[in-house]
Amino acid sequence: MPLAVVHHPAFAAALPVGHRFPMGKYARLSDILVADGVVAPDGFVVPSEAPESWLRLAHAPAYVDQVLGARVPARIAREIGFPVEATIARRARLSAGATVLASRLALEQGIACTTAGGSHHARRAAGAGFCVFNDVAVAACVLAADGVGRMLVVDLDVHQGDGTAEILAGTPQAFTVSMHAARNYPVRKVAGDLDIGLDDATGDDAYLRTLREMLPPLLDRVSPELVFYNAGVDPHRDDRLGRLALSDDGLRQRDACVIGACRDRGIPIACVIGGGYSDDVDVLAGRHAILHRTAARFV
Ligand SMILES: [Zn+2]
Repeated sequence: MPLAVVHHPAFAAALPVGHRFPMGKYARLSDILVADGVVAPDGFVVPSEAPESWLRLAHAPAYVDQVLGARVPARIAREIGFPVEATIARRARLSAGATVLASRLALEQGIACTTAGGSHHARRAAGAGFCVFNDVAVAACVLAADGVGRMLVVDLDVHQGDGTAEILAGTPQAFTVSMHAARNYPVRKVAGDLDIGLDDATGDDAYLRTLREMLPPLLDRVSPELVFYNAGVDPHRDDRLGRLALSDDGLRQRDACVIGACRDRGIPIACVIGGGYSDDVDVLAGRHAILHRTAARFV
């Protein structure tokens, strides 16, 4: 069976010319996955927009109304960094719908990925840091409502998963771990269940050693029924916003460590791409494709 990869063309929304967010990476990533044979042409699983009822499990109803009505207060829109218009709202709903779909596919098939997701700075009542709705938090809340009793969020984006920690603090079924650059955004972290702040310029060896010491015992202790994996590529040494120093091969070993540890234990894993910032969209999309290429080895 091929790897299930959830993708929608509208993950890329129009932004003002010259905007610093690399929106072009989503379409490029899907092209690379087809060219590499990871996904057959027309082989992507197509998500639906998350219904309001799902969004309200993780987000304050007033904030959901503001986003869907394109009435986000200017102060919050500035924190998000996008003009929160209809196409951005649709993108955020599709991304949340995609992560819910990937998590359900993972429960059926053992592993599934999206080509978006990881909007981990979005909090219950406000987005931030290019994140409008917190797709992983929405999915964890939907799955908790479905009756999934224990979930683990493994967030290896270079930035701390503050929004996910805040939202899921009220969801006892979910355990959150974030391993990130301690001195990076957000300045004020929100403590999750486990936070590991790394020094600037941490490279492959120290990073992988820390991960290998942390993750397998945590999986054995929490014994989750599902893992959400935020595989942000911004710990890469060439990332514009990261402060760490991983290589391409380091990212590959990281992804193999997380996915392999789950697959060895028979724990379903749903993977989202998280952050990654470069002016070279081809290089950046190729870096994100490391996740899907690695995941395909573990189907
Ligand atoms: Zn990030």
